Amino acid sequence: MENVVIIGSGCAGWTAALYTARANLKPVVLTGAQPGGLLTTTSIVENYPGFPDGIDGTELMMRMQKQAERFGAETRYGIVITRVDFSKRPFKVWADDDLVESKTVIIAAGASHRHLGLKNEALLEKKGVTYCATCDGALPMFRNQPLVVVGGGDSACEEAIYLTRFASRVYLIHRRDQLRASKIMADRALGNPKIEPVWNTVVEDIYDASKDEVTGVKLKNVKTGTARDLPCAGVFVAIGHVPNTEIFKGQIDLAPDSYIICKQGTYTSVPGVFAAGDCVDHTYRQAVTAAGTGCAAAIDAERFLAKEGS
Ligand code: NAP
Repeated sequence: MENVVIIGSGCAGWTAALYTARANLKPVVLTGAQPGGLLTTTSIVENYPGFPDGIDGTELMMRMQKQAERFGAETRYGIVITRVDFSKRPFKVWADDDLVESKTVIIAAGASHRHLGLKNEALLEKKGVTYCATCDGALPMFRNQPLVVVGGGDSACEEAIYLTRFASRVYLIHRRDQLRASKIMADRALGNPKIEPVWNTVVEDIYDASKDEVTGVKLKNVKTGTARDLPCAGVFVAIGHVPNTEIFKGQIDLAPDSYIICKQGTYTSVPGVFAAGDCVDHTYRQAVTAAGTGCAAAIDAERFLAKEGS
């Protein structure tokens, strides 16, 4: 029987692990299929305090893990949670079908990339459609080719800027005429001569599933209704995220948009189950705010156990 099981290994998960480890609770971190979480798919993180020159996303996560492990956190890699039962204590978590029982659980399961929902998007995934420029941008099929980035937030700007290293041209397709991204990121993207914004426009289709490769997109201007085709070798979708909360449905309260509802700090609707990071937060969604709520969840779990005399 564990004291604390932490589901997820992004900023929130590792910070919760650090704090619960230092409280001598010997936390067990179930990393999920993507150890380090979404931050490992970004390039340089420039807004995490303490790193004036920025730090590589994967490097930051590895440092957080090392710090948590130094105080006794146990890491179980690549574990995918198939089921949980929070109906009574000890809480049950089935990790790759092995049962783990724990007095408390901290959910820090993060979020996944939102998809456009197009049929050909799914058919061409990994064949030119991707959700991560850092992971895939350097592939030979994208070199010296026109590429499309969809979205208007910080992620879309970051992806577009990164892709200018490889692409002949980057088209930034946004459904409005103003970016949602922070000013610094928007200025960088719009000031880059290789990036061409395409305003008030959505992607209606991706070609060519019959060839098993991306050859272009069908665009529609939402103001004029005009449609046109744009040749490209890759489509990088960066339109936000959806929380990874599917397996918690029916176990704890979720909002209609699937984010976990926390009241009173990091307490979920089940006493002893806490939540932190991007699976809770649809407002700030920053590495540092995820780390902050991971810390809060650890303190809440520690106090909960102390109160129960565990
Ligand atoms: P986001 O801020 O939610 O932006 C999503 C973008 O995609 C918006 O521009 C949105 O359009 C568009 N969009 C959403 N659904 C769409 C759809 N179905 N079709 C077409 N466009 C769609 O997401 P994000 O850019 O991934 O950023 C998430 C969080 O991480 C933010 O808080 C951001 O600040 C942070 N972040 C920071 C950095 C950095 O500081 N370097 C880098 C990456 C991410 P609308 O604008 O019309 O809603």
